[in-house]
Amino acid sequence: MGEELDSDFLQRMPKVELHLHLEGAIQPATAIDLMRRNGADYVPESSLDLKRLYRFEDLSQFVTALRSVSNHIQRLEDLQRIARELLDNLITQNVRYIEFDCAVQKYLDLGFTLDEILAALQECAEEAADRIEARLVINLQRSHGPQKTAELVERTAALDHPLVAGIGLSGDESRYPQRDYRRAFDLAREAGLHRTVHAGEALGPDSVRDALDLLHAERIDHGTRAIEDPVLVDRLREEQIPLTQCLSSNLRLNIIPDLHSHPFPLFLRQGLVVALHTDDPQVFGITLTGEYQLAHSGFSLTRDEIRRIVFNGVQGAFLPENRREELHRRITEAWAAL
Ligand SMILES: [Zn+2]
Repeated sequence: MGEELDSDFLQRMPKVELHLHLEGAIQPATAIDLMRRNGADYVPESSLDLKRLYRFEDLSQFVTALRSVSNHIQRLEDLQRIARELLDNLITQNVRYIEFDCAVQKYLDLGFTLDEILAALQECAEEAADRIEARLVINLQRSHGPQKTAELVERTAALDHPLVAGIGLSGDESRYPQRDYRRAFDLAREAGLHRTVHAGEALGPDSVRDALDLLHAERIDHGTRAIEDPVLVDRLREEQIPLTQCLSSNLRLNIIPDLHSHPFPLFLRQGLVVALHTDDPQVFGITLTGEYQLAHSGFSLTRDEIRRIVFNGVQGAFLPENRREELHRRITEAWAAL
């Protein structure tokens, strides 16, 4: 059975976030400012109005809702404002390490160079570096197609930027199958870039297997529907493939009917490398602390299980071994001081 924790324990404990899209983390006031500045057809007057915009019942409606706001990011200063506010928010939750993903193709299409985009984000990461370690996953959007995603990987590899932790494929896996992105992922592997893939969200186990076998994903974003195939679950445990799980996201996008149907506690108790993440915190109106709260109360997690989730996040990070050990040491110390 679960145990009682101090009311603010989950807030104070050190945390790791590996699955967060920057465009899904725009603070409400910032979203409204950007929409107003760009003369959007509809500008929400309050965060409650904005919430009504973020209404959806499936992944494709979700993408449309997200873009109705994120399309108003037009300048690198906008991106920096969003990144700074995100990092400030995570610091208040004692998140010590984050790999956030950014839809850089969108800003390339606006005319900025990859170098400029990464320099803008690097500046934000450096300002916060004494409180949080922030690294970037280059987002590959399935809807951009195989050619454009492969080109973006080539540019990323050529730049070899210190902020970049790896690449991540997202979007609707049921409309754009994993196999179409083989070239992008082969290029990434040859260049030594770490690779994560959204899978097992809109589709079932086959999509997770394709992510592993065809794209050589080292990490799976979500992986929720892997539960439908016990052989795959065994494989994920044996190969210690990290799954970045997002409870509220899966609930809001109707991947699962209710919290108790979520495989997260089964995965955890069977020894899979699962951790908790927020995906698009401002779109879902959630925080990482809140996701831990949800898991703690919903699944009766013990303090030891919560600790294991945090350390699973450390294990899943795209870090060279010496830096992972360093992060492990920092989290261990912070945990001991609780
Ligand atoms: Zn995601």
